[in-house]
Amino acid sequence: MSVHFKRIALVGIGLIGSSLAHAIRQNGLAEHVAISTRSRTTLERARQLGLGDSYFEDPGDAVRDADLVVISVPVGSSGAVAQQIAGSLKPGAILSDVGSTKSSVIAQMEPHLPADIHFIPGHPIAGTEHSGPDAGFAELFQGRWCILTPLPDTDTGKLEALSEFWRACGSKVDIMDPAHHDMVLAIVSHLPHIIAYNIVGTADDLEAVTKSEVIKYSASGFRDFTRLAASDPTMWRDVCLHNKDAILEMLSRFSEDLSALQRAIRWGDGEKLFDLFTRTREVRRSIIEAGQEIDAPDFGRHVVKK
Ligand code: NAP
Repeated sequence: MSVHFKRIALVGIGLIGSSLAHAIRQNGLAEHVAISTRSRTTLERARQLGLGDSYFEDPGDAVRDADLVVISVPVGSSGAVAQQIAGSLKPGAILSDVGSTKSSVIAQMEPHLPADIHFIPGHPIAGTEHSGPDAGFAELFQGRWCILTPLPDTDTGKLEALSEFWRACGSKVDIMDPAHHDMVLAIVSHLPHIIAYNIVGTADDLEAVTKSEVIKYSASGFRDFTRLAASDPTMWRDVCLHNKDAILEMLSRFSEDLSALQRAIRWGDGEKLFDLFTRTREVRRSIIEAGQEIDAPDFGRHVVKK
């Protein structure tokens, strides 16, 4: 099935929105791409970068006549954006988003939407620690999963059209229940970021004593946490606030396991430590075998921008 939209509107043109703009252009997925973002400065930058065909300060103007609308803003702003565009959406249009949490986005957006709109929330499992319209690149979604969380009454034809759109951007598509998505992402994405923010914060607190050492010897492990901990503060504040229950559940399991690890170290239980470290090494092998990472010293994230 080939996919082509007459007009796609991208609301929010940061890392994800601008990567979509590049992927749409590179794969010829739309005749016209309309762009809107909150600030005049970002909109002007998107225009300079030539990310779309038309540019609007008012998101309502961008979505008018669009067959596909994708919202790429921090999850805490999705309700306000839905409210701004609701009256201008074209009947029959597909409306989707890329937010990292799903139940909260649905709860915020759905009440504002007219009944003749096909609202199909989504989340591409692809990203970097960079933000803004300069950060995007067409290959971001290549070989990565995109999870769609349709609502109970979602039209199957529209779901297939949106799935095909993501496949054309290079993604593999999974369909999931929104609450299950939030639980899965809490462990694979949200918790690792929170742990990274915490460990880098702890080291930063120690810096008064060991400032130069933390930086100088960072290649021994610390450095790998700093990539996650350099992620966008607004985005991650919103993720924590909008997937609170699932994150707290995973954090409490994490704390229990950490206590067990602490006990093993205290009591010199080498066997327990060795068994855990062997099991976790296997997890990394599985991720590499699944094509979600490469076995390279830079952890496979060295991106060549085209
Ligand atoms: P980003 O690079 O920081 O860009 C955010 C965009 O949203 C900008 O266009 C910004 O506009 C706009 N925006 C910010 N606050 C807004 C508000 N209050 N109202 C309306 N627009 C607002 O962010 P991103 O990384 O593309 O993330 C966008 C979404 O994708 C988030 O929901 C995030 O959870 C999700 N996501 C991110 C990643 C990742 O790794 N980054 C991966 C998957 C999904 P201005 O610049 O004009 O203010």
